[in-house]
Amino acid sequence: MKVPMLDLTEQYQNLKAEILPAMEDVMSNARFILGDNVKKLEADVAKYSNVNHGIGVANGSDAIHIALSAIGVGPGDEVIVPSFTFFATAGAVARAGATPVFVDCDPKTFNIDPAKIEAAVTDKTKAIVPVHLYGQMADMDAIVEIAKKHNLGIVEDAAQAIGSKYKGKSVGELGTAATYSFFPTKNLGAYGDGGMVVTNDDELAEKMRVIRVHGSKPKYYHHVLGYNSRLDELQAAILNVKFPHLDEWSDLRREKAENYTKLLNEQVGEKVVTPFIADYSHHIFHQYTIRVERRDELQKFLQEQGVSTMIYYPKPLHLQPVFAELGYTEGDLPETEKAAAEAISLPMFPELKIEQQQYVVEKIAEFYSKN
Ligand SMILES: *Cc1c(COP(=O)(O)O)cnc(C)c1O
Repeated sequence: MKVPMLDLTEQYQNLKAEILPAMEDVMSNARFILGDNVKKLEADVAKYSNVNHGIGVANGSDAIHIALSAIGVGPGDEVIVPSFTFFATAGAVARAGATPVFVDCDPKTFNIDPAKIEAAVTDKTKAIVPVHLYGQMADMDAIVEIAKKHNLGIVEDAAQAIGSKYKGKSVGELGTAATYSFFPTKNLGAYGDGGMVVTNDDELAEKMRVIRVHGSKPKYYHHVLGYNSRLDELQAAILNVKFPHLDEWSDLRREKAENYTKLLNEQVGEKVVTPFIADYSHHIFHQYTIRVERRDELQKFLQEQGVSTMIYYPKPLHLQPVFAELGYTEGDLPETEKAAAEAISLPMFPELKIEQQQYVVEKIAEFYSKN
């Protein structure tokens, strides 16, 4: 049996009858940039996030960069970020001209550990970028409290967490702004790059709308330095077809996660640590990530058996060569470094079959029974 990490083909076949005419419509109308499809998606995603504004941008990385710029982050500022995340979280901080300050993760949720944030705050700190990793929100109450105390902005990196909730509150409701990615592999994926910022702050929303069009307002008059970073109509048209299905897909992911946890507990036992779901959390399982011993050997074995897995992420950001001049060394963030050595994500997508899940778990059990 072959079990891919992610298979988007079945979803396309199911939606093809709606997607193709939606694309055809964009081409026939020949309106490709910031038209009605983008407007509709912005309104729908903002409403879904329980906030007033959605600003469609070119990708999830730019979404973070633009949100940080709009809240005034620039050269000389520090921004607190987790180290156990995708590069873009810290990349956006550096591109905004500021310095990322890395904080260790909570070993249970893999998210930034709020207990370790305050020690990283200095008089240069301007914002915190918590990441809602794997589809579970970071501990927002604690983060909001620290931000209030030190007058910091919060940009939630929700690239992996559209539809996730914290004590019933949506992504974007508790931060200053939140950012989504529509990269094809994300829970709401386009057929190319795309992203969005959501916020309740009217002034901030207006700034971001200006920044994404070269900082121009009115057209050809530039008061701030912006970029070209827009969500295009074709991607928005595709996303408008997909969006109504998002909650149903998230429920299917949650169901697959339950299946995995049950099967792993029954068949593998203490050799794996299954995902921890915080009691505040509505987890939408962008990834199903476990901790294991001898992770790399397990991955190799599974690959030989036809099971694809992924390591999110093998090298913490504080140890990346590009950030060498920040002066971090091994041992600085022990929980992050441990997670980078132990975490492995199993195949996860709404169309995954129970037979495939059984096969994956059987093979994991086989690996640990032989070794
Ligand atoms: C995917 C991702 C991003 C970047 O999104 P792009 O649309 O690929 O630019 C940022 N942060 C996290 C945590 C991500 O997973």
